[in-house]
Amino acid sequence: MSEVTPRGMTLRYVVALGLIALLSIVSHLVLTETLKANEGSAAIINMSGRQRMLSQRIRGLADDLHSGKEVAREPLITSMNQFRQTHERLAALADAKGTIAERRLYEVYYGNAEIDRLMTRFLAAGERIAARKVAPARLTDAEDSQDLQVLSDLARGPLLSGLEDVVSIHQSVSEARSQRMVRVQWGILLIVLVTLAVEACFIFRPMVRAISGYVGLLLNQADHDYLTGLLNRRAFTVRAEAEIQRSRRYARPVSVVLVDVDHFKRVNDSLGHLAGDTVLVTLSRTMEAQARREDVIARLGGEEFAILLPETGLAEACEMAERLRQAVAAEPILAGEEPRQITISAGVAEIDLDGARPYVSAMSNADKMLYRAKDAGRDTVRPKPASARAMRVVS
Ligand code: GH3
Ligand code: MG
Ligand code: MG
Repeated sequence: MSEVTPRGMTLRYVVALGLIALLSIVSHLVLTETLKANEGSAAIINMSGRQRMLSQRIRGLADDLHSGKEVAREPLITSMNQFRQTHERLAALADAKGTIAERRLYEVYYGNAEIDRLMTRFLAAGERIAARKVAPARLTDAEDSQDLQVLSDLARGPLLSGLEDVVSIHQSVSEARSQRMVRVQWGILLIVLVTLAVEACFIFRPMVRAISGYVGLLLNQADHDYLTGLLNRRAFTVRAEAEIQRSRRYARPVSVVLVDVDHFKRVNDSLGHLAGDTVLVTLSRTMEAQARREDVIARLGGEEFAILLPETGLAEACEMAERLRQAVAAEPILAGEEPRQITISAGVAEIDLDGARPYVSAMSNADKMLYRAKDAGRDTVRPKPASARAMRVVS
């Protein structure tokens, strides 16, 4: 039997499942983290895009206000506030310099591209325009025109391209992260597959082998008698029914012999149960020695045995039973300390393959014959072999 104990199997099974569960959790966490980070990038890209739109809107509204349209003042102030708040948030994000992307962002905001300074200028110019009282006399104000020029230049040029840079930096960071996630996912998938293969070879295969071993052992135990190792009554019945089907199909005779040990109780009473067991085991080996390979021998219970004889009519079956009786009688059995003379009685019946319940009626007939053998004084076979042969000649 395999060395894997049920406890060991449970342990291996739990470890195998635990490993798969652990890998699934890691995979899930990586995916969640990456999605969360990418959501952040998407929000920043969105904010930067909105800044670009706002800068264009501020420029237009400032133009309108400058040309005397007072209605443009309120939306201009609101847009300026939105622009300032978003700028402060984006600039704060760019203030860290840990990763390459963060360094690039810092460069865009505070380095050569200096978006931060441009934004501040843009906001200052816009705020000045929004703060001025518009009056016809001031429409040509030189300062105003200068501020408008600043707004227009910045909104069209460096601010636009600077914010474009910010968007593309965040996009490339997000793409790089997605690619890394795909690589990690593939890696985890590979590890899961390798783990499954290893588990299949070193955990599940030995487990299945151990289970099949146990099942085989149980099935064997369910079919066999523990003491003698012969088939038990249940298995004998199954085999006999199958043999009857086969014999009927090929129109071949089949017989059954019931064997009972004579005065077995006396063996137990005088020598003890252990000695009695030895007698039963020795008798089983004698029966096996006397039978052919295709004969089916079983211990029906107690000191009673049955032998199914395929391809055998009544006369040959009686002869076989007689040979067995003589073999048992010929040699005393060493039971306990001393050899003991044992005899058996046997009842024989040929199975009527055309009858309604061939197996049941054959067993009943053989039992009746066994009683007759007992009545006749034991150590004998019924029908007698000679009379059985005569029956065959007559029929
Ligand atoms: P008869 O010649 O009429 O068959 O008499 P008998 O004593 O053989 O028959 P009986 O039915 O009176 O006794 C059978 C005995 O077999 C009784 C029981 O204790 C014994 N027996 C049944 N199974 C076992 C077993 O597994 N081991 C042993 N040692 N004895 C068993
Ligand atoms: Mg008996
Ligand atoms: Mg008996």
